Order: sequence, then C-alpha cells, then structure tokens
Amino acid sequence: MARIVMKFGGTSVAGTERIRRVANIVRAQAAAGNEVAVVVSAMAGETDRLVNFCREANPLYDPAEYDVVVSSGEQVTAGLLALTLQAMGCKARSWLGWQLPVNTFSAHANARVDSIDAEKLISSMQAGEIAVIPGFQGVSEDGRITTMGRGGSDTSAVAIAAAVKADRCDIYTDVDGVYTTDPRIVARARKQKYVTYEEMLELASVGAKVLQTRSVSLAMKRGVRVQVLSSFVDDGAPPADTLPGTMIVSEEEMDAILENSDVERQTVTGIAHDKNEARVVLTRVPDRPGAVAEIFLPLGEAGINVDMIIQNVGRDKGETDVTFTVPQSDLARAQALLEDKKDKIGFNRIITDSKVAKVSVVGMGMKSHAGVAATMFKALADRGINVQAISTSEIKVSVLIDEDETELAVRVLHTAYGLDAEAPAG
Ligand code: ADP
Ligand code: ASP
Ligand code: MG
Repeated sequence: MARIVMKFGGTSVAGTERIRRVANIVRAQAAAGNEVAVVVSAMAGETDRLVNFCREANPLYDPAEYDVVVSSGEQVTAGLLALTLQAMGCKARSWLGWQLPVNTFSAHANARVDSIDAEKLISSMQAGEIAVIPGFQGVSEDGRITTMGRGGSDTSAVAIAAAVKADRCDIYTDVDGVYTTDPRIVARARKQKYVTYEEMLELASVGAKVLQTRSVSLAMKRGVRVQVLSSFVDDGAPPADTLPGTMIVSEEEMDAILENSDVERQTVTGIAHDKNEARVVLTRVPDRPGAVAEIFLPLGEAGINVDMIIQNVGRDKGETDVTFTVPQSDLARAQALLEDKKDKIGFNRIITDSKVAKVSVVGMGMKSHAGVAATMFKALADRGINVQAISTSEIKVSVLIDEDETELAVRVLHTAYGLDAEAPAG
C-alpha cells in the first residue's frame, strides 16, 4: 500500500467524458489498496476565460476579487470528479482550499504556500475516502481566497504530497513525460526517463511549462518524488507504479542510475522557449555610477522581474544604451514607471518590443563541458537567426531572438546538440 497524490491538468479534465477517464485512473489506484488524494485543474481554457471576464469587468482589477473569480474553475472540476467517483461506487469527497486549509501568503494572484493542515485529510484518506482537491487555490492569513499563479495546480499537488508525506506525486498531463524539448514543436524530441530537480527547475523557469517552477523547487526542498505522466492512455497501459513517465530525481540518484547503465550523460538535457518576454531599450543613459541602480530599483520595488540585461558601451562618450527584458504582462507598467523617472535617470528614449522570445539550453553537463554557448551561437548564425541578448547561468545559456524564429531556433538547437530521436515522438 502506498499514499499517492495524483494531479490532473486542464486538458485531462476538459469535459465530463475526460473526467470519467480520470476517475477510472484514480479508481484503479484506490482499488489497488492505495490511499489517494487527487488535485485537479480547471477544464482546459476555463482559467483564460475567467481571466478575460475580470479584464472586461475592470481592466485595473483588484487581485483579491480576481482570485475569487479564477479559483472557481478548479472548484467545478473538483466537485464533478467527486460526483463521478461516487457514481462509480467509490467513497470520495472534495476539500476546497479554505476547508483543508491550504494557507498561503496573501500576495493575491501569485500566492505562495505557507502551510497545509493535513490532519483531517490524512484521517479521511486512511478511512478509504478519495480526497478531491481543487488545485491553484488557497486561503490568505485574513481568510480570503488566493490563487498561486498560472500553472499553480502543480504546486498545490506537490505541497499536498509534502503535507501528507505521500510516497509519490504523479502529475498527469497531456504528454507522457518530460521531453528534451516541447514535443509539440519538435516531433523528434525524446522522452527522458529521469531528469534531476536542478535541471527541471531551470527548464521550468525558462519556459518548459510542463511543471510550474515553484512546484519543482518545493519538491526539491521537501524531497517529494514527482513523476510526470500522461492521462491519455488506454486501459492496457502500464500502471503509474511502474514509472512509465519521467521521474524527477536528485543528483545522487541520477549518478547511481547512470553508473548502472551504459547511457552517457548529455551535456544538454533540454531546450525551452518563452514567448512571454518583452525587450526594453533605454537610449543615451548617462554613463555614471548609480545610473543603472536608478533604472532597476523602482522596477524591483514594483515587483517587476528583470531577466536579461545588457549595457552597451555608448556611441557618444559619457552615454550608454541599456537593454533588458521583462515579462510581457509587466511591460506597460515598467514603461510607465520609467517614463515617470525619465528626468531622474536621464535617458533619451524608451524603445520596446514584445515580438521577442527567449530560447534556452539547459544541462548539468555544462558544468564540466566548455563550448556549449559557442555551439548555440554557431547553429543559430548558420540559419541566419540574430541574437539580441544573452544570459547564462552555471547550467543554462539563453538567447533573445525574434519571436517569429522561435520554433526554427528550437529545432535547429535540438539537432545541433544531438538530441533528435531516431523516430519522431508520439
Ligand atoms: P496541464 O494542463 O496538464 O498542466 P500544461 O499545458 O501546463 O499541462 O503542460 C503540458 C505541456 O507542456 C505539454 O502539452 C507540452 O506542450 C508542454 N511542454 C513544454 N516543454 C515540454 C517538455 N520539455 N516536455 C514535455 N512537455 C513540454
Ligand atoms: N487553472 C490554472 C491555470 O490555468 C492552474 C493550473 O491549471 O495549474 O493556470
Ligand atoms: Mg500546467
């Protein structure tokens, strides 16, 4: 017997027929004698629809009321799944975020999990009842509903798995694992049996949306065993216990796995892209100490995450251009803030461009292999793709390019690093 948390994403619960299939997968785990908690997302497209309602109602919406609206999608699927399980003869009940409760820090629309009271949940699971929990939602210190940022149901699932000390947290989605890149872009992407927490964290943070970044850092911190696998399977498919998907493992586990197999570690594990970036250029910024601080301090205070930064040597002595990227959703705010401080900073003009994308290559092997960045620049140059900005970390190289060239760049790099599978995925 094991204690398992299962999470199903939007496409897996996209309608009552899909919810029935999910209920079958859940029932099989419960019937095998396991204690089961299920975390569900809103039906595919539902959260976007709810976000649009908020924008229509009030473009400058209050995040606390936004949370009231957008958290409702998950509540519907949780109730429907509990009903479907009951119709199949299973004991099941839903637990809303405030009922458990899932306590969060109160940053509305982007809340972080503080703690989860799992006592009642564990007793109910021990009594053989399947717990169905809407993902994405929690409750703030002052008792209001919060949501955990887009893709946040992954984090709900991992947090609940940590709280109930689950043996495994299975993240069911519409692909059967973590691939070397988005399999919807590269048909020759390869499924990976194991990926380390560190690599998954970096991949998620640069745009591989298969797992929310926070869910990976939480899993790493709390040692939760996370498996990514598909809910789109036939009855005869291998059960989740045989690990048919991708298991996220520690560095030590990965070393042991590699030692016991003849597989060599790739320098690059994965390639990700992110089209939600926007580029900002401030021209003719005075080249003096403190000038860049004046640009980035107010952005930081406003909670705007600046990613890539380049400071060009000025065309005229004493002046320089400063280029950086921010999330597209923050561009208007960043622009307004900087215009406001124009005289203080002393720049000449702001130029912005949302038609950019960030493409990143990630791999632990980079720590010990030189030349990864050079391979990237050469492969892109050979296809005439211009690099507008670069950033690196110990296990990642990212470039900013024209958005229209994203798919081409991902394909070219996938081939350049020898990641293409013999036969196309799927
Ligand atoms: P869910 O609704 O189940 O949470 P998401 O849409 O958030 O699913 O994440 C799954 C999607 O992530 C896949 O459909 C795939 O297009 C995308 N994806 C991006 N990068 C990868 C990758 N490296 N491996 C697998 N899927 C990826
Ligand atoms: N429904 C939310 C979203 O679409 C949360 C999730 O699915 O993880 O972002
Ligand atoms: Mg998701």
